[in-house]
Amino acid sequence: MSPDNQPKPASPTIVAQQRHLLETLPFSDRQDFEDAHRGFIAALEPGVVRNSEGRVVWDNDSYDFLAGDAPDTVNPSLWRQSQLNAIQGLFEVVPGLYQVRGLDLSVISFVEGDRGVFVIDPLISAETAAAALALYREHRGDRPVTGVLYTHSHADHFAGVRGVVDQADVDSGEVPIVAPAGFTSHAVAENVYAGTAMGRRAGYMYGAALDRGPQGQVGAGLGQTTSTGTVTLIPPTIEIAKTGEELTVDGIRMVFQMAPGSEAPAELHIHFPHLRALCMAENATHVLHNILTIRGALVRDPHAWARYLSDAIELFGDSTDVVFASHHWPTWGHERAMTFLIEQRDLYAYLHDQTLRLINQGLTGPEIAEVFQMPPALENAWHARGYYGSVSHNVKAIYQRYLGWYDGHPANLWPHPPAAAGKRYLDYMGGADAVVDKAAASFAEGDFRWVAEVLSHVMFAEPDHAGARVLLADTFEQLGYGSENGTWRCAYLSAAHELRHGGFGTPASPAAPDLFAQLTPEQWFDAIAIRVDGPRAWDQRIVIDVEFTDRAEVHRLTLSNGVVSHTQVIGQAAPDARLRLPLPALALLMTGRLQPDGFAEAGVEIGGDASALGRLLGLLDAVDPDFAIVTP
Ligand SMILES: [Zn+2]
Repeated sequence: MSPDNQPKPASPTIVAQQRHLLETLPFSDRQDFEDAHRGFIAALEPGVVRNSEGRVVWDNDSYDFLAGDAPDTVNPSLWRQSQLNAIQGLFEVVPGLYQVRGLDLSVISFVEGDRGVFVIDPLISAETAAAALALYREHRGDRPVTGVLYTHSHADHFAGVRGVVDQADVDSGEVPIVAPAGFTSHAVAENVYAGTAMGRRAGYMYGAALDRGPQGQVGAGLGQTTSTGTVTLIPPTIEIAKTGEELTVDGIRMVFQMAPGSEAPAELHIHFPHLRALCMAENATHVLHNILTIRGALVRDPHAWARYLSDAIELFGDSTDVVFASHHWPTWGHERAMTFLIEQRDLYAYLHDQTLRLINQGLTGPEIAEVFQMPPALENAWHARGYYGSVSHNVKAIYQRYLGWYDGHPANLWPHPPAAAGKRYLDYMGGADAVVDKAAASFAEGDFRWVAEVLSHVMFAEPDHAGARVLLADTFEQLGYGSENGTWRCAYLSAAHELRHGGFGTPASPAAPDLFAQLTPEQWFDAIAIRVDGPRAWDQRIVIDVEFTDRAEVHRLTLSNGVVSHTQVIGQAAPDARLRLPLPALALLMTGRLQPDGFAEAGVEIGGDASALGRLLGLLDAVDPDFAIVTP
């Protein structure tokens, strides 16, 4: 490998930036370290979790390099956050309430009841959740799990559920599974629509292909990274729908506050009156969270988010002495807990209100991001810093939420796409070599943002230009070293990695049959519709009636003008074919795991023109989980 392709040290510009941060941020405030260690009972030793085949699905010990002072290649503020996130073990929050932290991206909480233990948010993988429960039981007794609660519809809060509870105990009614209303459809919906693209981009966001270390992945701000074990889901048996609703499980009384459309589309907060403890799910953590995650998603609503935090203070503040969440460490003491919630509330409210103020002065997203300043009190509150969300990308998200992608300037209404623009830029700027020479000078001056922009034009016009490729990789690397945001660092370093070593695609994620099993017929038909290759399909017309033998439903699928639409109203006209099958067989058919020779065994019958089904499936495009990002 050419030495050019190796990671480089931090440039003088980045070294100076890191020193400046060390002098200006309140590093002498060590309260978070005190809190992150408070109540420590025991760690998992070694801090490694394997699956049944022996493959490592979590390795917290790989972050042992975080001991000591920040190296020049890591933003010292992010280094500090990663040190905190890597503190691993079982902790007592208050007697009767325990957490295991540092065994996944998220945190699992245990509330002790009359007979056993109630579990909140069982991590991402069955293996890490099981390891956390085992660690808890080792020190708190072999208590049975008497209930599970998912605070919201993101996988890091439910997907390890089979590691803590058996399906049979749920089916028998022995163990309730509690979640906010709308949980299941939101939990699976993201996989249906833009899931492939989100998966590829998530690989950048969490640095999945990067080595861990001072020149690689150091953490993701919200937690260190995601575990890679078995993703599971047991649907809720109790759905909570109203603020003020109460539930008692195993003698544990819980009072709920609904927070839909905040950090997740289905989310709730829980107050435990007997513990004077308030669980804020993921709406008040030790980061500025994402209004729009950089893997891509629908834009969240910071206005509602701030409102829910105000309401939580009003509803539960007087009877709360500790606030905890499903990421990071708790905040103890009534005064401190309220200050924390007020600052978190003000954080999202300030972002929202000030972005709109500037929008109405005519500023666009990038302009607002450049001038936006947080109030000094929030700037100096560690929990309000941008380790996961950032002020920069959140204000652009708020712009997007209210005004969309177009900034109102007609030059941006119809621009050339990157490759076509790149060729024209190079032509005007004297060719690729001249641009790379100039970029090298800008690199030496530390203007990495500009170098990234101009060299991206070269990469899209002349992707084989070796000098541009090397310098662009070095540039992304410096931007990564400088980033306070964990996901920005991962994204920049992932881009450098791909320029140096080629695309890493989407790191294999284990199949999740539990999630597929929860898709509704409508979601499956949507999944079919968005895979139709429009141009190949636009002259075809196919009508197939689908009768689900495991539910009394008939749907009509109609392909016309390149669109598959579905309806439960069946017209007079006869379909081309009629398909009878159980819903799980549709999943197999759609994912290519069921061929015609297996139809009889899978309970699939087809009447009428059987070739119609083959013609429809033949018009579906394969998704591309390996698409290029930094090259054309
Ligand atoms: Zn989470």
